[in-house]
Amino acid sequence: MELLNIKKLDLANKKVFIRCDFNVPMDEFGNISDDRRIRSALTTINYCLDQDCAVILASHLGRPKGEMVEKYSLVPVARRLQQLLKRHVELAGDVVGDDAMQKAKDLPRHEVLLLENLRYESGETENDIELSKKLASMSEFYINDAFGVSHRAHSSVAGITEFFDDEHKAAGFLLQKEIQFFGKLMNKPTRPFAAIVGGSKVSGKLEALTNLLPKVDKIFIGGGMAFTFLKQMGYNIGASLVEDDLLDDAQKVMDKARELGVKFYLPVDVIAAEKFSEDAVSKIVTAQEIPDNWMGLDIGPASVRLYREGLSDVQTVLWNGPMGVYEMDKFARGSSKIAHFVADSYATTVVGGGDTADLVQRIGLDEEMSFISTGGGASLELLEGKILPGVAPLIIQ
Ligand code: AMP
Repeated sequence: MELLNIKKLDLANKKVFIRCDFNVPMDEFGNISDDRRIRSALTTINYCLDQDCAVILASHLGRPKGEMVEKYSLVPVARRLQQLLKRHVELAGDVVGDDAMQKAKDLPRHEVLLLENLRYESGETENDIELSKKLASMSEFYINDAFGVSHRAHSSVAGITEFFDDEHKAAGFLLQKEIQFFGKLMNKPTRPFAAIVGGSKVSGKLEALTNLLPKVDKIFIGGGMAFTFLKQMGYNIGASLVEDDLLDDAQKVMDKARELGVKFYLPVDVIAAEKFSEDAVSKIVTAQEIPDNWMGLDIGPASVRLYREGLSDVQTVLWNGPMGVYEMDKFARGSSKIAHFVADSYATTVVGGGDTADLVQRIGLDEEMSFISTGGGASLELLEGKILPGVAPLIIQ
């Protein structure tokens, strides 16, 4: 899949609209706790500034649901962007209101304008064509660099592309990189190729699992989703997370793995706790001996050893979803140990999914991975084999 390339556009001295993904996590004081997504957008922004462009940036933040809620203002994003770009960033008072329209019209080259939160406009998530048209009218070129929302058919991601021909729109450097990385991973991985799949539920990852099966050599399951598989295998899983309606699907995944010769790993022991809490009494138990009313909240040390053994010869690792409730220190050890092992390996390591990226960053291993995706939902949909609505209009036919 080849995308319209920003480098092929005649951008010099023009006005360009870049859809970014500045949907960054904030702490309870309203401070940005991880600015990876802002930093990842700098390459495209700087490229446009080097082409002497006037640059209009747009993003959403959180879910203000069509209301102008101060909590979701892009003020902190503008401030951080200003520090990172080392130049003034003008923040519009609205999205497509008088202020934004006037500022966009008057924007001189080499200047940066950031629109207010796109989701202050209810039309954004409805892919409202009138909103797309107004946004498109601000510039001569459109660049999508928002991988994290490219799986959404929204006005600033999908509808807007209709107002630009192929000489006036393209994928930014970040979007290109994300699509290329996942494309290579799914089509030409260096083998053996292993997927580590964790997180809370099977339901969120069933399609991705099914699509991954014919491509990978090994799958390692962790997190809450492991218990649906373990239950289906006949284990007593106590009060662990389980999706009873997906037991059949879990069986199908295991059957398919066997049929395809994919090595399918499940935890052999877990850290079980009396309640879902940091101060819960907890103990290591084998998968065969989870007590009634106890819940498995992390993979145990024997599983970590087993997974390390299984991962020791792999050349490519895709990791999506934590091995346990990593937000609580007590149940973060399984994820942390696997993260260290993966980071130290000589394999190509790709981390997808917001939680997994967050966990790798918390442990301080983000620089050690080959690639950390900025999009959780979007990367999952790519793994499911879908063509994303924000990417489809940018594919060279
Ligand atoms: P997901 O969004 O599906 O990738 O799931 C991520 C969430 O799964 C994290 O917030 C983890 O705390 C949670 N999680 C991981 N393992 C377990 C488990 N054994 N029981 C309950 N929740 C879990």
